[in-house]
Amino acid sequence: MKRPILLWFRRDLRLADHEALNEACAAGAPVIPVFICDDIVEGLGAAPQWRLGLGVEDFAKTLSAKGSKLILRKGPALSVLREFVAETGAAAVYWSRAYDPQSIARDKAVKSGLLDDGIEAKSFKGHVLFEPWTIETKTGGFYKVYSPFWRAVAHAELAAPLPAPNTIAAPADWPESDEIAGWGLGARMNRGAGIVADHVIVGEDAAAKRLSAFLRGRIDDYAKLRNFPATPGTSRLSENLTYGEISPRVVWHSAQDGLRRGAPGAETFAKELVWREFAYHLLYHTPHIVTDSWRPEWQSFPWEVGDSEEATAWTRGETGVEIVDAGMRELYVTGYMHNRVRMIVGSYLTKNLMTDWRVGLRWFEDCLIDWDPASNALGWQWVAGSGPDAAPYFRIFNADTQAEKFDKNGVYRTMFLPGVDGTCGPLAQKFYDAVPVSWRLNPARYRKLPHVDLKRGRQRALDAYHAFKEPTV
Ligand code: FAD
Repeated sequence: MKRPILLWFRRDLRLADHEALNEACAAGAPVIPVFICDDIVEGLGAAPQWRLGLGVEDFAKTLSAKGSKLILRKGPALSVLREFVAETGAAAVYWSRAYDPQSIARDKAVKSGLLDDGIEAKSFKGHVLFEPWTIETKTGGFYKVYSPFWRAVAHAELAAPLPAPNTIAAPADWPESDEIAGWGLGARMNRGAGIVADHVIVGEDAAAKRLSAFLRGRIDDYAKLRNFPATPGTSRLSENLTYGEISPRVVWHSAQDGLRRGAPGAETFAKELVWREFAYHLLYHTPHIVTDSWRPEWQSFPWEVGDSEEATAWTRGETGVEIVDAGMRELYVTGYMHNRVRMIVGSYLTKNLMTDWRVGLRWFEDCLIDWDPASNALGWQWVAGSGPDAAPYFRIFNADTQAEKFDKNGVYRTMFLPGVDGTCGPLAQKFYDAVPVSWRLNPARYRKLPHVDLKRGRQRALDAYHAFKEPTV
C-alpha cells in the first residue's frame, strides 16, 4: 500500500471542485483528511469561529458518508502535521492556498519545515478564481482599480469545476482525533449562538441548494433588487464562500450559464463575485490593507480611535439613526448585514462619527458569519475613503436619504427596531434576547434616543478633511 497523503483542510470545507483533494485521490494513496485548530483559528472573532466550528462538524459528516474521516487536532500547524506524519507514515501533505498575510507566513513555515523533513508539501488553488499573481496590468503590475480588473478577468479562461471524487481511499488505521466540542469554538457567542443559529445555512449540500435556488429565480432580478435590504434579492452565498463550502469557480460558471441563457442579472452578479476576487488581489499585493490605511497619507487622519461613547452606541444599534441601528441589529441577530446597509453603517461610523475604520472592521470581524479577511478590509477602506479608490472622502452617505431610497416603506427598519410604543416584532425582540445583559438595553427607551444631526456630523467630517488636506502652515 502507498504511504498516505494528509489533506489539510482550512477554508475549503468541500469535496467538489477541490484541486488538492482531487490530486490526492488521483495519486491512488490513502487520504487522511485533517483539520487543525491552530492560533489562526483561535484568533478568529466570536461569530466566524463559531460558524467555522459548525462547518467543520458538517464536513466531518460529509466525509464519513464517503467512508472517510476528518481527524481533528489542536496546536501549532507544523508541530501537529509532524505528529501526524510520525503516526501515519504519510509521505505528503496537500492543502488549498490562502492569501492573507498571517496564513501565508504560517504556510511558508509549514512548507519549509515539511520539506526539510523530506515530506512532500504541496499547495493548490481553491479559494479564488485566479491566483492573485496571474492577473497583471499591461506593464506587469497589479490592479489598484476595480473596473480595469473586471475587464481583465471578465473573459479570461477559467477551467470547468472538478467533480467530487467518487471514493476517498481510507488508511489501514485512522489516527486519534479530538472531539470538536472540546475546542469551545462557540464559547464567545454567549447568548447569541442560539439566536444566530436560526440564520446560518451550513455545509456543501446546503450551499449547492442555495446557489440553485438563486439561479432558479432571484438572479433574474438581481440587478434591480440587490440594493433593497428588506427584499431577499441576493444570493447569500458569502457565508458559504468564506468557509469554502462552495468554490468561487462553481459560482462563476453558474453566472456564465445565466449570461448565456439571458438572465438579466447575471452580469451584475458576476461583477459582484469579482469584487471578492479584487479584494483578494489587493490583499495579496498590498497585505497592509488589513491593518493600515491603504493610502499611506490616511494614516495620519485625525480619526477617533478609542471606545468612544458614540462608537459604543454604534455597535449596540443605539445611535438613534434608524437605518444604522437596524443594520447593526441585523448583524447581531443574524450574523449577516445587507451590503447596502454595510455601506451606510460604515459611512456613518467613519464620516459622521469620524471614527477609525478599524473600529468597524474589528466589530464586523467579531460578528459576521461571512467574515472574510479580504472583503472586510476592502469594504471598510472603501467606505472610509482610505482605500485604493478614486472616490474620495466626500462620499458621505446621508443615512436618512439612503433609508428613504432603499427602505422607502420602512419594512427593514420595522423588522429590526422596536415600534413607537416599545413593542417588538420577532427579529427586533431577538436582538434584546441576544445581547449581553450588561448592555442594559431596553426597547421602551429606544425611541427616546436623541437623533443625531446628520448634517452637522457631515460638516464636521468635511471640515476635518479639508484641514487635513490643506494644513495651515
Ligand atoms: P451577493 O450580492 O449575492 O454577491 C455574490 C457574491 O459576491 C457574495 O457572496 C460575495 O462573495 C461577493 N460580493 C458581493 N459584493 C461584494 C463586495 N462589495 N465586496 C466583496 N465581495 C462581494 N463580504 C464578505 O464576504 N465578507 C466580509 O467580511 C465583508 N465585509 C464587508 C464590510 C463592508 C464595510 C462592506 C461595505 C462590505 C463587506 N462585504 C463582505 C461585501 C458584501 O457586503 C458581502 O459580500 C455581501 O453582502 C454578501 O451577500 P451575498 O452573498 O448575498 O452577496
